[in-house]
Amino acid sequence: MDNTSIAARGEKYVMRTYGRYPIALVRGEGARVWDADNKEYLDFVGGLAVNALGHCHSRVVAAIQEQAARLIHCSNLYWIEPQVELARLLVENSALDKAFFCNSGAEANEAAIKLARKYAREQRGADRYEIITMYRSFHGRTLATLTATGQEKFHRGFHPLMPGFKYVPFNDFPALQAAVDERTCAVMLEPVQGEGGVFPADEGYLQAVRSLCDEKGLLLIFDEIQCGLGRTGYLFAYQHYGVEPDIMTLAKALAGGVPIGAMLAKEQVASAFGPGDHASTFGGNPLATAAAVAAVKALLSEGLIENARKLGQYFYQGLVQLSREFPRLKEVRGRGFLLGVEIDGPADEVVAACQERGLLINSVHGHVLRFLPPLVVSREQIDIALDILRESLQLVLVK
Ligand SMILES: *Cc1c(COP(=O)(O)O)cnc(C)c1O
Repeated sequence: MDNTSIAARGEKYVMRTYGRYPIALVRGEGARVWDADNKEYLDFVGGLAVNALGHCHSRVVAAIQEQAARLIHCSNLYWIEPQVELARLLVENSALDKAFFCNSGAEANEAAIKLARKYAREQRGADRYEIITMYRSFHGRTLATLTATGQEKFHRGFHPLMPGFKYVPFNDFPALQAAVDERTCAVMLEPVQGEGGVFPADEGYLQAVRSLCDEKGLLLIFDEIQCGLGRTGYLFAYQHYGVEPDIMTLAKALAGGVPIGAMLAKEQVASAFGPGDHASTFGGNPLATAAAVAAVKALLSEGLIENARKLGQYFYQGLVQLSREFPRLKEVRGRGFLLGVEIDGPADEVVAACQERGLLINSVHGHVLRFLPPLVVSREQIDIALDILRESLQLVLVK
């Protein structure tokens, strides 16, 4: 089937929860994808930060094929070897001590919220349940994570929301300080906000938040679902800032494209969960965790994090150069390969013009262009992307 007929069938049978482009992606290799009409694109959407290793990374493909032929699923009533290996890899390469596995980012954050509530209740009493999150944050679409998400537009139509959440502006320490009260149990944030428009934490802010949490006995939860796993040029974004969380959530890139989520915690916090407190039928299943073991090993051994740091800087400079050529580009933000450009103009039209010319990018909130290239992208591919972007900006902004 071609793009048009797949889109037509989709309109008829698939629920309309997404605004979709009229193309169907059917094949990928590294930083490139092809649609059903065999048109080639450079993929700087990367499955929204999932395809960090590019498409069909050979080690991930091999791990999936081997594991699928051996054991696809078994219950968490039994030990699962690749799950144990994945937990070991994550713990030994992070500041956290124990891992719980689930199937998505929202589920990882649900687990974090439940753990924070249980820990606070046991340590400090039943009134300690409130979690402070940030405006412009994004934490997921389940009812609790939707409530944790500090963006009104995602709440509309779904009230009543979950009790126990409160919002403050990101990077505003006095506001956070003022919001903490006798009900607060945790602070939850993304070290680099992604969906909210690509806003990195200011230097010094996370240190201040950490000190406040220590002083007040609050847990600090980092949602690294988008910014973690090498994307910012560090394995975890918290390493860039030198501030350790008590709980950290991961998902997106963790299994090279296979659905997975993880919630990691310091030993003392993790011990608030006992058998029966939390579970997921598919969580940490052999297929997903075997893919994740291969993906994390590839991430750690193939120079990809360094690539994100170096070429991320190169790409950033290229975007800054474009912002000099086009005054309607207001600001370039981000870290590594999580970059955004604030645009005074129709971001959607720029996205469409790029797509037309063979470059997939994404826009958030109608005025921020977001770039999430795979960590395997080359300097030449970044140059091509910048050329396509320049041509598209010329077309849309100058005409
Ligand atoms: C994508 C994302 C989520 C939600 O992940 P899902 O897998 O879509 O549930 C949560 N937090 C952040 C920071 C994200 O980018």
